[in-house]
Amino acid sequence: MSTKRDYYEILGVSKNATPEEIKKAYRKVAIQFHPDKNPGNKEAEEKFKEAAEAYEVLSDNEKRAQYDRFGHQRPGAGGFRGQDMNMEDIFSQFGDIFGGGSPFDSFFGGGGGRTRQRKGSNLRIKLKLSLEEIANGVEKKIKVNRLIRAEGVTFKNCTTCGGTGQVRKVVNTMLGQMVSTSTCPACNGAGQLIDKRPPGVDSSGLVSKEDVISVKIPAGVSDGMQLSMSGKGNEAPGGGVPGDLLILIEETEDKELKRNGNDLIYDLHISFIDAALGTSVDVPSIGGKARIKIEPGTQSGKILRLRGKGLKDINGYSSGDQLIYINVWTPKKLTSEEKAKLEALRSSPNFQPHPDSSDKGFFDRMKEYFG
Ligand SMILES: [Zn+2]
Repeated sequence: MSTKRDYYEILGVSKNATPEEIKKAYRKVAIQFHPDKNPGNKEAEEKFKEAAEAYEVLSDNEKRAQYDRFGHQRPGAGGFRGQDMNMEDIFSQFGDIFGGGSPFDSFFGGGGGRTRQRKGSNLRIKLKLSLEEIANGVEKKIKVNRLIRAEGVTFKNCTTCGGTGQVRKVVNTMLGQMVSTSTCPACNGAGQLIDKRPPGVDSSGLVSKEDVISVKIPAGVSDGMQLSMSGKGNEAPGGGVPGDLLILIEETEDKELKRNGNDLIYDLHISFIDAALGTSVDVPSIGGKARIKIEPGTQSGKILRLRGKGLKDINGYSSGDQLIYINVWTPKKLTSEEKAKLEALRSSPNFQPHPDSSDKGFFDRMKEYFG
């Protein structure tokens, strides 16, 4: 009598499961009991092998049909091939069931593909920048916690690939036997597995360490932009290249200058007397103040443009402008003496509005300046 568990039960699928359902179920079980996730756990290893055997049979139409008829007591051939599967066989299945995007890649932060180089995972940080820093570009020293390869870790040879980092699979094709080689999934190509590790070191031999990284931010970045520093992310387990440091830009809103793309907008309030008589005023600008001239007879809503005083375009040599939106401010409190003076001007013909074609209204201005 066989003491083997039912193959369908092992994978947790019904007897009517489709090939796709079986594949999906096996993927789940294989990930759960993968030796890399359960180092030194004999029970997990048994479950891992058991699942591989079940999949080996249930994924093959002919074998599945025989299993459905005879169960584990397959006549003739002495049981299913799955019974003597070794780890190498199991791992060589993975290329088929996981395809290019093997979930084991994500355990190690690597990319897909067989010729991939082992790569550490990416590190993500947010970086707050003022408008001034964005305008001029800035170099920042940033504290990050990176995963680096720990000291004092001892390794043992990977038994799956015998230390070569590669597993071979023999495939029968019309042209005869072909040998295909792929990265060993047990050690992810390193040829070694961790034997002993000091406390604080994770199962891939990495330990978190505070690091100060100098980051050069080019002029003209904007909120939500992501910069990438190659090789400044987490180190790769065992060997290979470190991941990238991804820097997400957060722009601190400036109290005075508002940003519209590469243009900067400033709201200027002037008195109606300055608007009528003309004057010069200082307005805030990148890198200091800018002096602007208010012509006599300036209307509220007029927009002055300081060419090239906006932000540099990050992709080119052009720069935005600074736009100054003129608001003519009306006094809200007047002494009786002031009221009397204004009252004397109220009926003067020059104080009656008579806009001409040069006095643009709201829509014309919006069209002109913002498209
Ligand atoms: Zn290996």
